[in-house]
This record gives sequence, structure tokens and C-alpha cells, in this order.
Amino acid sequence: MELFRHPEPVDLSVVIPVYNESANVEPLLARLLPVLERLTPSYEVVFVDDGSQDGTAAAIARRHAEEPRVGAVSFSRNFGKEIAIAAGLDHAHGRAVVIMDADLQHPPELIATFWERWREGNVMVYAQRTDRADETALRRGFAHLYYRLFARFGEMPLPEGAGDFRLIDQRGVEVLRSLPERARFSKGLYSWIGFRSVGVPYTVEERRHGTSKWSFRKLFRFAFDGITSFSTVPLRVWTYIGGAVAALALVAALYFIADTLMRGPDVPGYASLIVSVMFLSGVQLMSLGIIGEYIGRIFAEVKRRPLYVVAERIGPAAAGQAGAI
Ligand code: UDP
Ligand code: MG
Repeated sequence: MELFRHPEPVDLSVVIPVYNESANVEPLLARLLPVLERLTPSYEVVFVDDGSQDGTAAAIARRHAEEPRVGAVSFSRNFGKEIAIAAGLDHAHGRAVVIMDADLQHPPELIATFWERWREGNVMVYAQRTDRADETALRRGFAHLYYRLFARFGEMPLPEGAGDFRLIDQRGVEVLRSLPERARFSKGLYSWIGFRSVGVPYTVEERRHGTSKWSFRKLFRFAFDGITSFSTVPLRVWTYIGGAVAALALVAALYFIADTLMRGPDVPGYASLIVSVMFLSGVQLMSLGIIGEYIGRIFAEVKRRPLYVVAERIGPAAAGQAGAI
């Protein structure tokens, strides 16, 4: 077994997942580093290059040559933002770790406020967006409905408008690293670990370069992952729906029997037969699908594959994995 050298801990790590963000690396660091410098000289920036093909890693390497506190972990392919964040937490050595996006939608200046709230004893300080003006009404509506559903059926409520932009104390980071699940729904995990948390309101800025990598389909998948990771209600609700449908079918059967006894057999009953068969098959297929979702999840977990594959490391991140011995 390879033994990792324990690098010196730093005060503050900033973890930034990047996927094809070469144009954003420079402007981001130009705004971020002065903010960090004012807080503490003991910081590191850990980019997690999520399999970019546009020279993002080269852009980071150029900056690393001038500023050794900037480094990166590069994946062997695209693993997705959630996994990139997990890798960033694994490689961060800070007493406090900030997670933020690379596209300057998360204002770096807010980190100073995070820092203050952290010094007051909060383990988790999250940025809470005050408006969703940049999004369509449909997307806003879905987001709101989702938070309500999650609060109702999930294990714990999610603070609305809170994303990945946050600061986490070392204690929280250690717990997050120890969570073994492959399906990472970090919003849920942040809430699940508990601890003293506080929100800091902010306004989301426009994306600097490039376009968002979230399609509606990806968002739906993400939302679904969240529900199935933190709730078994979708699995259990079918017991009740099945019971109700069966009861309804029984009432209908009694009606048809009575009707046949009183008025004799009736061919038009054919229509109701087809309707009920179709309805029941639909309900059955849906419930099978839900069970399939959870079994798929169990399958993904029991395979016990590593979460990600690292191809290359630059700078601080290369100095050993914080979570390793
Ligand atoms: N990202 C990533 N892997 C992906 C998709 C996105 O690491 O597969 C990064 C991306 O580079 C950015 C952050 O995650 O730093 C947020 O992505 P994006 O701006 O596309 O999402 P949005 O702001 O629309 O939620
Ligand atoms: Mg963005």
C-alpha cells in the first residue's frame, strides 16, 4: 500500500470543480486570490478538472507556475460535478474548505463573510441565493415544488436556495469524506451531517464564459437522485396506491356481479374490462420502475467501485490525499 505524506494543513482550501472552463480560470483567480490573501496567507486552491478537453488543466498549470498555492486534480474522464466536489474534499487540507463554481456565478468576495461566520463557530456556512431571476418561471416553479416535496418526504429539509457555494469546517469535511455512497447528492449530504449551520444571502451573477452544463434532462435526473437517496416514500407509496386501486376494483366487481344478476349478461362490459386492465398494468409498471430505481442504486453501491479516477495532480493537491493515512 502506498503511504501518503501528510502535508501541512492550511487555514483555507478553495475547491473548484471545472469542466471545460479554460476561459474562466484567469478571471476567477484574478478575483479570488486577493480575497484569500486578505484573509490568510495560508490558503490553497484545489481545482478538480472533471475531464475537460479544452486545455483547462494547462491553464491551471500556467497559474501554478506563478502561484504554487494553486493546484489541480485531473480526472481521467468526466465524472460529473458531484463526484468532482467529493474529490476536492478528499484532496483539501484546509481547516476550512470553501466549495465554489468556476464561472464567477459565485462571487468570491462572499468568502470573507463565510470566514467571519466560521470564526463565530459555525461548521457549515452556506450561500443562500435571494432571487432566481436568471431562470425561467418553469424552472423556478419546479425548484420550489421540489424543496417542498423534499421537506415533506425526505429525512430532513433542505435550506431553499442553498447550493454548493459554501464553507465547511474540517470536522464537517471529515464526516463528508467518510460517507461511502456512490450516488452523491451533496445538497442532501450537507444537511444530513447536521452541525451548526448558517446561511448568507447573495445574488447569483451571470455566467462569465461558456454555457451552463445542465440540461433539463440532467436536472431531472439530479432531482430524482436526491429524492431516491434520501427517501423511501416513492418505494412505499405503492403499497397504498395498490391497496386503493384493488379496493376500487373490488367495488367495481361487486357492481358488475349485481348488475349481471339483475339484468343478465351484457357485452358492453368489455370496455370497462379493458380500461381496468390497462390501468392496473400501468400502476404495476410504475411501481416496478420505482423498485428498479432503488435496486439500481443498491447495485451501484455494492459494486464498490472507486468514486473517481485521478489521471494527474498539480501543486498542493499532489502533496498527498488529506483523507489518506
Ligand atoms: N462542472 C463539472 N463537471 C460537470 C459539469 C459542470 O465539474 O460535468 C462544473 C463547472 O465547470 C462549473 C460548476 O460545475 O464550475 C457549475 O457548472 P455550471 O455552471 O454548468 O452549472 P450551473 O451554474 O448552471 O448550475
Ligand atoms: Mg454556472
